[in-house]
Amino acid sequence: MSGRRDFIKKTGLITGASMVLGSDKLFADAREASAGKGRLKLSFKPYTLNLRHAFNLSTSSRTTTPVVLTEINYNGIVGYGEASMPPYLGESHETVLKFLSKVDLSGFDDPFEMENILNYVDAIEDGNRAAKASVDIALHDLVGKIIKQPWYRIWGYDPSKTPDTSYTIGIDTPEVIRQKVKEADPYKILKVKLGRDTDKQMIETIREITDKPICVDVNQGWKDRQHALDMAHWLHEKGVVFLEQPMPKEQVDDNAWVTERSPIPTMGDEAVQRLDDVLKAYKVYSGINIKLMKCTGMREAHEMLTLGRALGMKIMIGCMTETSCAISAAAQLAPMTDWADLDGALLISNDVFKGTTVVDGKVTLNTLPGIGAVKI
Ligand code: MG
Repeated sequence: MSGRRDFIKKTGLITGASMVLGSDKLFADAREASAGKGRLKLSFKPYTLNLRHAFNLSTSSRTTTPVVLTEINYNGIVGYGEASMPPYLGESHETVLKFLSKVDLSGFDDPFEMENILNYVDAIEDGNRAAKASVDIALHDLVGKIIKQPWYRIWGYDPSKTPDTSYTIGIDTPEVIRQKVKEADPYKILKVKLGRDTDKQMIETIREITDKPICVDVNQGWKDRQHALDMAHWLHEKGVVFLEQPMPKEQVDDNAWVTERSPIPTMGDEAVQRLDDVLKAYKVYSGINIKLMKCTGMREAHEMLTLGRALGMKIMIGCMTETSCAISAAAQLAPMTDWADLDGALLISNDVFKGTTVVDGKVTLNTLPGIGAVKI
């Protein structure tokens, strides 16, 4: 996407690998380990995640999520990646497999040429963001494994600074909500989906059981700005810490109006897909929700985080329902975020990776190289 490259040129953003791998020795060691011995080989296969609970949002409900698992092999070292395709994003097994079958990495013999490789992948076709993320994640995993470092270290982040992760509670009946709040016992923050006519009842049901902080995600479900603002005040009194995507992303002026007056921060999610959306979200929302599947992967997520922080915006790292592969990749960015919503792998019953864990409600990074995940 040329818009992305122009944007980077304009803002002078520098990306991760070139910025932080400062040590010549590190480069020399890595180049030696990967010197001229092979080609990058991409392989991929479809897989279906089973959800522990039917997942209800303001406009949809489902029990499975299609994903595609990718691998990039280079001289016997394998990097793992994943595309997750919740239906409302428009990608599917078919579209991802079709896109990946067009990706020919055999022209590249140096995995450290990440900018060239990922610009090539991005330019193959517009859209296909989850498919692109699956290549980006596998490439990051591969490069991290070659230099034997996890990405949070390559970026220079302090792994102890990860935030608590929230546990998501979908729109449901009071009985199911009570049960889910119990399941969420190890978590210190609850994320509640609102946007139907049961909003106040859901919050009141939770407040009968626990006084844990709550974040609210409306998924564009409210249409009227005065209603959104009244709800923001009511939710603030109920101990809600932020309000995600209160109204449709097209209602830019209404979202900005609420953000200006709201007692709690607003976060743009549906409105913020890729890097060039961060500036558009400035002053429309207090912060941005970054997800690898929206923004084509770790490279662009890192750029969005850097730009958002420079603008003084709140940063959240989120996810789709994903295996521990993509969750672990996203978790590498968590130390530089205000909030993390990385429960995607905890909501499925057939994970095929082991990686970043949640200990006492906190995203806990491991010391494994690359994205920090191993195949089960
Ligand atoms: Mg959201």
